[in-house]
Amino acid sequence: MQLFDPLSITVSSGHFIGGRVVPDNARLEVRRPSDGQVHASLPVADASTVDAAVQNAWQAWRHTDWARRAPRERARVLRRWADLIEADVQRLAALEAVCSTRPVRDATAWDVPFTAEGLRFFSEYADKLGGEVAATRHDHLGLVVAEPYGVVGAITPWNFPLVMVSWKVGAALAAGNAVVLKPSEMTPFSVIRLAELAIEAGVPAGIFNIVQGDGRTTGDALTRHPLISKMTFTGSTRTGAAIMASCALQGPKPVTLELGGKSPQLVFDDAPDVDCLAAMVAGAITGNSGQVCVAGSRLIVQRGIAEALVERITQRFGALRPGATWDAQATLPPIISAPQAARILDIVDRAREAGAQLRCGGGLFDGGPGGAYFQPTLIDGVTTDNPAVQEEIFGPVLTVQTFDTEEEGLALAAHEHYGLAAGVHTADMGRALRAMRNLSAGTVWINRYGRSADFVIPTGGYHQSGIGKDLGRQAVEANLRFKSVLIDFAAAHQ
Ligand code: NAD
Repeated sequence: MQLFDPLSITVSSGHFIGGRVVPDNARLEVRRPSDGQVHASLPVADASTVDAAVQNAWQAWRHTDWARRAPRERARVLRRWADLIEADVQRLAALEAVCSTRPVRDATAWDVPFTAEGLRFFSEYADKLGGEVAATRHDHLGLVVAEPYGVVGAITPWNFPLVMVSWKVGAALAAGNAVVLKPSEMTPFSVIRLAELAIEAGVPAGIFNIVQGDGRTTGDALTRHPLISKMTFTGSTRTGAAIMASCALQGPKPVTLELGGKSPQLVFDDAPDVDCLAAMVAGAITGNSGQVCVAGSRLIVQRGIAEALVERITQRFGALRPGATWDAQATLPPIISAPQAARILDIVDRAREAGAQLRCGGGLFDGGPGGAYFQPTLIDGVTTDNPAVQEEIFGPVLTVQTFDTEEEGLALAAHEHYGLAAGVHTADMGRALRAMRNLSAGTVWINRYGRSADFVIPTGGYHQSGIGKDLGRQAVEANLRFKSVLIDFAAAHQ
């Protein structure tokens, strides 16, 4: 049964500049991930279109009162925007489901409400980070005044198109900046609707703009633009490094980078409920078909519980049913594109050549509605240098490594390059906290895995998984610069 008719959903192509959709020559074909069909085409903003968008944002930032108005006024606009997003949930969820890998049920219950709640969260910080006052001497006063950067450039990936944008844009706007966003060329459409709702909520025209296109042309031109004072990026480590290098040469200007991961789930044999644990571990690698930056892709399990846990995870994998994001029975969404599915297959093949054994899965599902659906895959017998342990796969592929002592478990959980997130599962809280201290990761979950609406807790990586944080107070601070003011009121100067 179909939850809606995907062919009834039309998308708005074009850029969004100065408060309206701006048409441009279409140059890229965009496919629906669920059936692999081309459903729309997309312009590619060249350097002159990017310049027009950035100039527009700069003028709006200087000549509207967005940056100067009372922060509580900006907060009110962000809350109104959140209300409009929630009121439009059906349309936004259907758009997200057609254009990305997000099942419409999840987009309705999670992505759209999360997008709205993220904006509300940032609205609450708008007037809380004004600065500081310090009496540096009896006749001196020091002020630290928080000020926005001006125009922030944002580049986002395809895996959670709406949510990623609300994290980047919400923080930047709450701090009083203007934004020019380049969404992923694979999922570019739902954010146009967000921008339309921003205007309706009272965000001044030109304060939030979108340029469409690929990374090489549009993303690069945005990163290099001299009026972009700060870049915020979510995507692969490789692209993040290129953006950072470009920002170093074209400024230097600051960057926030949310990058890739290869996150371990460290399970001790005293973990309380094996069934519940199996559900959590399986869900952490099959949610969005593993296309999640914090996917728990490496199971590191103590020998005493290993076989029972792997058995149950395999059963759960086998019960998942692939299908389109609008299919009521489907529990496993598509891979974003055929090339990405081929990449997953290549890593699995190389893992086997390097000596790993397949416990289940290992390839694409046959038949189906078109699109690429990858079988949930469990790989056993891997050594730390196996490609499936080393490389971010971004698919539903879980490796399993076993250990005996706490020390061995922690050694296996460490990764040479990545440090995005980790899970620890044990009934012994002392051991859990020791592990937390030892794990070199930006987020550690204890006896759970994954985010809920705890926006006050920031997210971001260690090592090659990123620099800086999204969410939390830290995300708003990262969109502010701090001016130091010293006032000397000694009598001699009067
Ligand atoms: P990607 O790096 O290929 O692309 C991300 C964005 O960067 C896209 O909009 C793309 O067009 C743009 N881009 C590509 N090359 C560019 C360049 N040279 N200059 C400027 N922009 C450029 O990543 P993806 O495949 O879209 O997303 C998957 C990756 O994102 C995974 O590695 C995943 O772990 C990561 N991710 C991280 C987080 C996090 O919070 N840490 C969240 C989601 C996704």
